This record gives sequence, C-alpha cells and structure tokens, in this order.
Amino acid sequence: MRIAVIPGDGIGPDIIRQALKVLDRISKVYEIDFEYQEVLMGGAAIDETGRPLPEETLEVCKSSDAVLLGAVGGEKWDKLPGHLRPEAGLLAIRKGLGLFANLRPAILFPQLKSASTLKEEVLGEGLNIMVVRELTGGIYFGQRGRRMGPSGEEAWDTEFYTAHEVERVARRAFEIAGKRGKKLMSIDKANVLESSRMWREVVSGIAGDYPDVRLEHMYVDNAAMQLIRNPRQFDVIVTSNMFGDILSDEASMLTGSLGMLPSASLGEGRPGLYEPVHGSAPDIAGKDLANPIAAILSTAMMFRHSFNREDAAAAVETAVEKVLDQGFRTVDIMQPGMTRIGTEEMGDRIAGGITKN
Ligand code: NAD
Repeated sequence: MRIAVIPGDGIGPDIIRQALKVLDRISKVYEIDFEYQEVLMGGAAIDETGRPLPEETLEVCKSSDAVLLGAVGGEKWDKLPGHLRPEAGLLAIRKGLGLFANLRPAILFPQLKSASTLKEEVLGEGLNIMVVRELTGGIYFGQRGRRMGPSGEEAWDTEFYTAHEVERVARRAFEIAGKRGKKLMSIDKANVLESSRMWREVVSGIAGDYPDVRLEHMYVDNAAMQLIRNPRQFDVIVTSNMFGDILSDEASMLTGSLGMLPSASLGEGRPGLYEPVHGSAPDIAGKDLANPIAAILSTAMMFRHSFNREDAAAAVETAVEKVLDQGFRTVDIMQPGMTRIGTEEMGDRIAGGITKN
C-alpha cells in the first residue's frame, strides 16, 4: 500500500509521527506492506516552494492508495493573500483528488463521558454517529455575486446540485450504513428548498438498492435540535455541503474533545484523504502536548474505507480504548485520578497495544 504522508504545520508533524508508529506496528502484526512518501503542503510548502499545494504533492497523492494529513496553517502565513494561504492547499487537494464525500464520525468514548456538555442519561454508553457530508457541490460552489440594486447593495449565493452529485454521496452513505447500524438519516430542508426536494427524491429513489438499510428523512432545523435532545437516535447522517458543515461541527462538539476526532474524504476510485478534524494548534506545537488520537483514529478509517481491512481498523480502535481504560490521558482530555502523558508516550502505548484479534 502506497501512502502519501503530509505532516504539515504546527502539531502536524508531532501527531503524524505517532500515526506512523501505529502503521508500522500494524504492518508487522497484520503483515501489510506500506510504502510512505512524505510530501509538502500548507505553510511548510509555502516556505519551500511559494505555493500551498505544489504540483508534485498532488501528483504523489494521486498515485498513492491513500493520503494521511496532519494539519496546516499558522500565524506566520496569515497575512498572505487568500489563494496563497496554507488553507488554500486544503481546498485544492480535495478538488484535485475529486473528494466528494466527507466522513466525520462523532465518537464519544465511554471513558471520556465527562468531557461532553450533555447529561450522562442523554449519552448512555457513549456516542457513535457518522456524518457524511457532500463536499464538492452545493452553495459553497454555486453561482454568487454582488451588485448595486435600486434600493442598495445586493448579494447572493446559489444552492445548486445535480442529481448525479446527490446520488454518488448518498450511495456512499448507504454503503457505510450497511456496514454499521443499518440506519440512514437524510437531512434536508425539503419543506422550503427545491434543491432539497430533488435531494430527497434522489436519495429515496436509490433506497431500494440497499434493502437492509432503513432510510428516514429529517428537516435540518429539527436535526440540529434532535442532535442535542437525543443524539443516540442517529447512526449515519447524509446531507448537503452547508448543512453538513454545520451539523458535523455540532455533532463533534457533543464529544467534547477536538483531539479525538478523525475524518475521511473519499472520491470515486481515487485515494481517500485521512486527517484529524482539528487544526495545527500552533500554541502547543513541538511541546509533546498534542493529543495524537485523532490522527491515529484517522489511520483506522484508512484501513476501513481505503484498504477494506476491518480487522486492522478494529485493532487500532481497540488499542486506543485500552490505553484510555488504563487511565492514560494527554493534557486536553486529562481528568482527576488519571495519568497524564505526552504525545510520544501516547503514540508508543497505542502502537504497543495493537494485537491480532
Ligand atoms: P485548532 O484546532 O488548531 O486549535 C484549537 C484549540 O484546540 C487550541 O487551543 C489547540 O491547542 C487545541 N487543540 C487542537 N488540536 C489539539 C490536539 N490534537 N491536542 C490537544 N489540543 C488540541 O484551531 P485554531 O487554533 O482555530 O487554528 C490554528 C491553525 O490551524 C490556523 O492556522 C487554522 O487555519 C488551521 N486549521 C487547519 C485545519 C486543517 O489543517 N484541517 C483545520 C482547522 C484549522
């Protein structure tokens, strides 16, 4: 398996080092060969080449089986024009790899329940919701403009979807639901928006191809409320770019800890991109303080979604749970009575805990 590795900026290199320890251990225990190629993106690439996503990086990523990314950005590059900032590299790589489905699991480990802002009785035995967000269409990419009208300035953005764009992300979501709790909630605003009415028709139209998955629909305003009221009713959520942007942040905050959340972005027959949800946290970079679990759980998603190795994915997740059970915590998830450890030790302990199931 060829993996393009982009450590990036800030804590990116700190956490990617730990993810690589885990990959090396999986390689040994499960006898999978990995070939890593490290490439530049973000601020590190700007310093070296003047551009946030050098052509060579995109080419290496395109010819890999998967891409593992730390995080990009930092104050040093904040004054550059928008298209030359590190974050422009993120949009460019998603576009360049045709990544239209963004998978954001909101997992609350039972060991970390007290980190959530929700009451214990609402959380039950922890949470495990998967938000599948359409990533390359909708209002963020639709026509927009500004002009002077007869009564002053006017501005508009357009929510635009083709049925094909809806179908391909919905099929991904059905497949994922089929491998999990077999429940799919499609979220839209079909009581108001024409684009949502088509979204609903397309999703309903393909449901027959997935007879083992139960499909339901919910309006986005109700979904925002239900995520707080009773989050355990959700298994997999599929929704448009903007609704997904908002709801995935809401869902992830139910878990209370940014350093624990992985993500995957997938296209059709292209390498998937795996990265933590958090940013480059320049305030703690290089200080052995960053929580590497989001990056490590991103490798579990890589095994599940790119390499079809559920066994290795489960082994990584079990190793994370084991270390939490043993009471080890990085500073961001520290609780009374637990043992505080640094980035490197967390990586060593998780990698060391990987066994063949
Ligand atoms: P951030 O996620 O980097 O940090 C927010 C807070 O959470 C900070 O206090 C940080 O110390 C803490 N934190 C984040 N990840 C952590 C971890 N793994 N372990 C422990 N603590 C952690 O968000 P920000 O401060 O708004 O942004 C910093 C930089 O990251 C900016 O340049 C921003 O543009 C960039 N950013 C990049 C990405 C990405 O690469 N995907 C995403 C978001 C922000």
